[in-house]
Amino acid sequence: MGIYKLKCLSCNRILEDDYTLKCNSCDALIRTEYEKKQLELRNDLPGIWKYIDWLPVSDYFETDSSIKTYKSEALAKELGLSNLYISCAGYFPEIGVKNKACSFKELESVPTYQRMKEKKKKGVILASAGNTGISFAYMSKITKIPAIIVIPESAKLLVPYPEIDTVVLIAVKGNDYFNAIHLASRINKEGFVPEGGARNIARRDGMALVMIDAAFTLKTLPDHYFQAVGSGTGAVSVWEATLRLLDDGRFGKKKIKLHVSQNHPFNPIHNAWARKAKEIDIDKDMLNAFENISKVKATMLTNRKPPYSIVGGVYDALIDTNGETYAVTNKEIDSAAKLFYELEGIDIPAEPAVAVGSLIQAIEQKKVNLSDKILLNLTAAGFERLKKDHGLYPLKPTYVAKNEHIPIEELPLNDL
Ligand SMILES: *Cc1c(COP(=O)(O)O)cnc(C)c1O
Ligand SMILES: [Zn+2]
Repeated sequence: MGIYKLKCLSCNRILEDDYTLKCNSCDALIRTEYEKKQLELRNDLPGIWKYIDWLPVSDYFETDSSIKTYKSEALAKELGLSNLYISCAGYFPEIGVKNKACSFKELESVPTYQRMKEKKKKGVILASAGNTGISFAYMSKITKIPAIIVIPESAKLLVPYPEIDTVVLIAVKGNDYFNAIHLASRINKEGFVPEGGARNIARRDGMALVMIDAAFTLKTLPDHYFQAVGSGTGAVSVWEATLRLLDDGRFGKKKIKLHVSQNHPFNPIHNAWARKAKEIDIDKDMLNAFENISKVKATMLTNRKPPYSIVGGVYDALIDTNGETYAVTNKEIDSAAKLFYELEGIDIPAEPAVAVGSLIQAIEQKKVNLSDKILLNLTAAGFERLKKDHGLYPLKPTYVAKNEHIPIEELPLNDL
């Protein structure tokens, strides 16, 4: 089990963990420091719990949620790469993952629910653009811990059960994820905790398993990491994992390079990083945000308030890894998704197709060498496949809010 301290990255104070999300005095991210510098695999535990040493929990529940890293042959050959590894926390039976939420958000919901249980929290409140909502609804069903989930109405949650009675789903009219975040932030319910987004250490340390699983598979850290980002929390988590793995000592001494990508024309992180700016500037980096959000295919990447400039956030991760950013067009997404399906044999949605498109750009721009060890995080895969094998069902909103300012009393929160 993970024995850890919680540390504020700004004042370095050690904090007590009561599902703590931040330090009282600072706005910085807080981070876990695990007692065990070397992770010992627990192959006797189910699914992702084999990495429990570096998860902020002391117990586990039965799960088949897992993460796999495999070496690509067909796509690697097509791109001329000799060491392309693919990380998948979706539904892809041929490589041995059958995650029914189909995305790497499943890696965060499992330890988050366990942490809630251990801290005696009654339920969780969160906003989602889609996949976080799916994974939290799914895990709410498994753990029977209730969840209040707020989504933009345009997001449709496809879940592996016809009904989930432990979830209240609130849809906010329109397609803007930030409005959902705003409404969720106004909700209070006795004993319930806000999930916390990037501030939730169980979320980050869960997503960090992408890199930890890769390091154990490759027996070393890769040279490069490719991921499509909205908030960038996954990339921050993976960067934190590399710091732990460097400390572990068994996975080499070389820092990795982060390559993060967004869907043109909504790509504020890419714009800010291209200016080497420490802050996202609304006028320079997010011009015509609403119009541009409506144009992108990769809707999970449309976060208007990513944790970019916060201490320990995306900017710090890009600085520390000498990172690169990319903007990928809808057209590039379509051809990348098609190529991936033909060569690797699993369907991928627009977000991982953005990552594949960025890898193609990086090769063209010679930002990677063809023999480098490259880790491509699929972030999601296999929705179509799971639909066929098992069935997926749209989770019906309990309530549709006309906007994010509606009185909280109107929400059906007593159903839980
Ligand atoms: C959440 C999500 C992302 C973006 O992840 P962040 O690291 O939080 O920015 C990318 N792809 C998919 C499929 C996602 O669900
Ligand atoms: Zn502090």
